[in-house]
Amino acid sequence: MAYDFDLFVIGAGSGGVRAARFAAGFGAKVAVAESRYLGGTCVNVGCVPKKLLVYGAHVADELEQAAGFGWTLEEGHFDWGTLIANKNREIERLNGIYRNLLVNSGVTLLQGHARITGAHEVEVEGQRYSAGHILIATGGWPQVPDIPGKELAITSNEAFYLKELPRRVLVVGGGYIAVEFAGIFQGLGADTTLLYRGDLFLRGFDGSVRTHLKEELQKRGLDLQFNADIQRIDQQADGSLKATLKDGRELFADCVFYATGRRPMLDNLGLENTGVELDDRGFIRVDDQYQTTEPSIIAIGDVIGRVQLTPVALAEGMAVARRLFKPEQYRPVDYQNIPTAVFSQPPIGTVGLTEEQALEAGHKVQIFESRFRAMKLTLTDIQEKTLMKLVVDAETDKVLGCHMVGPDAGEIIQGLGVALKAGATKQQFDETIGVHPTAAEEFVTMRTATR
Ligand code: FAD
Ligand code: NDP
Repeated sequence: MAYDFDLFVIGAGSGGVRAARFAAGFGAKVAVAESRYLGGTCVNVGCVPKKLLVYGAHVADELEQAAGFGWTLEEGHFDWGTLIANKNREIERLNGIYRNLLVNSGVTLLQGHARITGAHEVEVEGQRYSAGHILIATGGWPQVPDIPGKELAITSNEAFYLKELPRRVLVVGGGYIAVEFAGIFQGLGADTTLLYRGDLFLRGFDGSVRTHLKEELQKRGLDLQFNADIQRIDQQADGSLKATLKDGRELFADCVFYATGRRPMLDNLGLENTGVELDDRGFIRVDDQYQTTEPSIIAIGDVIGRVQLTPVALAEGMAVARRLFKPEQYRPVDYQNIPTAVFSQPPIGTVGLTEEQALEAGHKVQIFESRFRAMKLTLTDIQEKTLMKLVVDAETDKVLGCHMVGPDAGEIIQGLGVALKAGATKQQFDETIGVHPTAAEEFVTMRTATR
């Protein structure tokens, strides 16, 4: 049977755009439907605007360090409106680039909400289209626990468009987004408290990293409250917010920001018209080739809830395009050793196993750990410490994990990701000549195991 399209992609985010462009490049007839914004979460309300705000907050650090290098600066003034307007202009530019990328690669771009009406059929704005394959790449959406007053809270979606920088912010959560936004709000001058329900935030990251970041954030004056969770939020007569915690304490703020995870975006997607099943957590169930339980329907990216990172969605999109339309180039996505960064202040960079994971997996480990004050700070009064850590298999000498908290951690860890992918040993790290003077050279000069 002849279909309107070989591939119909729902969602023009990181994964969808990558799959659509490459499938079209391989000669397939491709359509993409997008209901909200080209480029998806990452470009519009995720990685890109977040990183721009992180840069904005980081300027405060540079200003603080300036005096040590002989600079006298007039008292600085920060204007939130200017930062947001400039950020918005950049996002619009990127939206245009995404449009061109799709159109120039021959993809048919449909603006509007897509609803699946059958195993091979999608409806957009009242028009039905048939397709050989349907790719669900609809991403995720912030999830806020169902507490009284939840409508008074904001999420990352709204934070990027706040009219003003709130004077007092309560950030709820202990994952990537909570830690990053706590740094943004505090760096830009808001009185910021981070509330996390457990003993220590960033569950799943290396223990030394979690403790080190906690200490550094506290040194910067961020109010960290662990084992703390909000029971209800009430609006005060003056418009400000009162958060009542489960332990009965009351905290007052102008903004309560929830970053308590993301659910798959399946709203009105029409899955009931298909055989697509969800997994126990409510994400779309797929096999290792992203095939759902409906043979003609594939799903990738945040909606499958594996690793919610843009480069992973890109890799999955590429794998799908190749498998369907260029099978001779197909390679499965390697989920081992995915490097990642948390753009906190200071940032985290990490790749490979944490010490805890290595032990749990039965490795006999050697730990190399170093804490030092970065050279850049030696002319200043700032006492921030950088952490670098290597987790090494004591039997094979293979480096299992690299972890860092400190300036440029994300930039540094990318290169170490290549080393781990290549299976580098500690001896090969040791034989690598350092780049001097840098912080990064510490990763190749840690000679004595600390544990
Ligand atoms: P998305 O990019 O979310 O795209 C899905 C698209 O589908 C959206 O445009 C949506 O409008 C559209 N859509 C949904 N339903 C329909 C429908 N029925 N019809 C038509 N269109 C539909 N990752 C990193 O790697 N680094 C970072 O620094 C980083 N920072 C982040 C910061 C924040 C605040 C957030 C929220 C996320 C961040 N991420 C980061 C994660 C990253 O943004 C996601 O992993 C990535 O965007 C997932 O891509 P995707 O293609 O699965 O979905
Ligand atoms: P995460 O899953 O990373 O963290 C969610 C946090 O909220 C956890 O600390 C969790 O606690 C807590 N939490 C969950 N439910 C509740 C609840 N009901 N009440 C109180 N606390 C709760 O989600 P995020 O929203 O931070 O980010 C989503 C994903 O987006 C990330 O996992 C990451 O993959 C991606 N991302 C990547 C970034 C990057 O690459 N730099 C930046 C931002 C996002 P607990 O640990 O106890 O379960």
